[in-house]
Amino acid sequence: MNKCVFLSAIVFAAFLFVSCGEQKATTSLNAMDTFMTIQVYGKKPDIALEKTKKLIYQIERNISTTNEASDVYRLNHGEKISASGDTLTLTKYGLDFAKQTNGVFNPALYPVTSAWGFTTGAYKVPSENQIDELLPLTDYSKIQIDGTSINLEHGMALDFGAIGKGYTGDEAIKLLKANGIRSALLDLGGNIQALGKKTDGTEWNIGIKSPWTGKAAASIKIADKAVITSGGYERFFTADDGHNYIHIFDGKTGRPVDNGIAGVTIIAESGLYADALSTTMFVMGLKDAAAYWKEHSDFEMIIFTENQDLYYTEGLDGKLQLLTDFASVNVIR
Ligand code: ADP
Ligand code: MG
Repeated sequence: MNKCVFLSAIVFAAFLFVSCGEQKATTSLNAMDTFMTIQVYGKKPDIALEKTKKLIYQIERNISTTNEASDVYRLNHGEKISASGDTLTLTKYGLDFAKQTNGVFNPALYPVTSAWGFTTGAYKVPSENQIDELLPLTDYSKIQIDGTSINLEHGMALDFGAIGKGYTGDEAIKLLKANGIRSALLDLGGNIQALGKKTDGTEWNIGIKSPWTGKAAASIKIADKAVITSGGYERFFTADDGHNYIHIFDGKTGRPVDNGIAGVTIIAESGLYADALSTTMFVMGLKDAAAYWKEHSDFEMIIFTENQDLYYTEGLDGKLQLLTDFASVNVIR
């Protein structure tokens, strides 16, 4: 036993020393419309956690669609502003991703998602006419960035609901690293992001929620990765006709996606990329998502269908542990 570990063992009763001079600290917070938990290991973990909390609240203040002081709220209400770095980064990334996916990902769907009540909780099914009138307002190709100003035509609006948490996770990890933290696990409303490994040198074991029971349907071991899920079961409403409408939208039709997918989990290095992909692959559906994965070698994917079929990409073979029964289990190659 080296001196360091020996000393740690002696003072264990007073502090939880993980290794020499390192401690564990955990915090929870409500932000971005969800519940977040962060656990960190390192020197002065409490200071790192406080800074991380501040960072999360700061990003939320910039990109919230409901806080009247936020960049996004002000832009969406026709103000000309000098946008923060967070807002500019997310706008650029969102527009690039929209171009790259031919609009399957679209950060300008807010006028349509609002009409369905997803932004307020006052859910309703809009008329075909209403949707047709709103669709031109979701044309992301009209959005221009000029220095720090973002130009939206009247009636257009941005929404970073599909990428904000992934971006926040990446920024939080950068901050934690800069503050001497070498091991951390972030759960930002079910978006999991890991910095390094656990302090015992083993990988983090991450549960992936079943869309049907809410319990873990599978688990996977990761280090330095994001595991990010888009689930139709996370937010939806049941209309008078008995139909369930989910919060993930097909921007071409202006209607909630209804393609047999129950949930998509993406595993990638960047939280922002994984978050953008989780929504995009959900909208694409099984066939196009598999084709997209084949063209891009930088992520892995798990898809649950409404029929309780499981699909996962080849790179996860042998790494994914299944914890429940599925109607079928299929590998995407
Ligand atoms: P969650 O918010 O449950 O983590 P997502 O990352 O999939 O799930 O984000 C869903 C949110 O993304 C929606 O609430 C909405 O704000 C926005 N959104 C819905 N459809 C799209 C789309 N096709 N492209 C971009 N953003 C979308
Ligand atoms: Mg997403």
